[in-house]
Amino acid sequence: MPLEIASEAADARARCDEARAQGARIAFVPTMGALHLGHLHLVDVAKERSDFVVVSIFVNPTQFGPAEDLDRYPRDLEGDVAKLSARDVQLVFAPSVEAMYAPGARTVVSVKGITDGLCGAHRPGHFDGVATIVAKLFDIVGPCAAVFGRKDYQQLQVVKRLVADLNMPVEIVGVPTIREEDGLAMSSRNAYLSAAERARGLSIPRGLSAAHALYRGGERSARDLRAAVAQLVEKSADRVDYVTVAAPDTLSELSGEIGERALIAVAAQFGRTRLIDNTVLGEDEPPIPGGET
Ligand code: AMP
Repeated sequence: MPLEIASEAADARARCDEARAQGARIAFVPTMGALHLGHLHLVDVAKERSDFVVVSIFVNPTQFGPAEDLDRYPRDLEGDVAKLSARDVQLVFAPSVEAMYAPGARTVVSVKGITDGLCGAHRPGHFDGVATIVAKLFDIVGPCAAVFGRKDYQQLQVVKRLVADLNMPVEIVGVPTIREEDGLAMSSRNAYLSAAERARGLSIPRGLSAAHALYRGGERSARDLRAAVAQLVEKSADRVDYVTVAAPDTLSELSGEIGERALIAVAAQFGRTRLIDNTVLGEDEPPIPGGET
């Protein structure tokens, strides 16, 4: 079946209604486009779980702060559609800003608590923008399952909370981070990095891998695990927003001894590019297998 493209919410909704009427199970992958292999992996997971895959491509202005990179965020609809077509996706929903936000829109979906730390503390309003657009997209598409990357770990937890709190009948599937060969997490924003900035950006996966090595050696002090990551990243980054050790489900910051599992999440700026990454000790593989030191 050829890929269809909808740019209006009503058209996307009608196509999804039709698919459901024919008995299809819809899986949904929301994206901001400039697709890379990480996104395409989410599409593959969506395909395994459904017979009708919808991918949205929408650079959502309400999740960008005034000083952020909305205007220069990479856009390549034609290239994205070609990649999704090769992946046998059924529907791409690529709306305009006007199609998603009517003039006079006044409704904001706000998930509390879990949005206070990490990126929420550094990007005011970001998760309101994320929760609002995800709620709108889920309402238009009506998926049984939606697939998100663990690369945006806090976003994944926010979406899980949103769906539980609003009784949305959508299974949220979290997929491990896909990385470049050297360990850098794939991101549309990596395209902004100069070669030198990219090399410095590797301090993040190296730091996270160093924490894995310590954890494997028995280290359980939240402070020392954090320090191992921070030491590497602080040496290389132009600005470090946070290096945080937190409970993987509630995202509350951990001190003292960590338990079985602990999230270590990082956000740091390299040149004009802000990179985020994370790993769950006791659960994930290290970003750089065997290359922690
Ligand atoms: P974005 O286009 O950056 O908004 O990302 C769309 C979806 O792709 C989100 O669920 C991201 O978490 C996910 N994603 C982005 N990069 C990766 C990656 N390297 N590995 C896995 N998922 C990713």
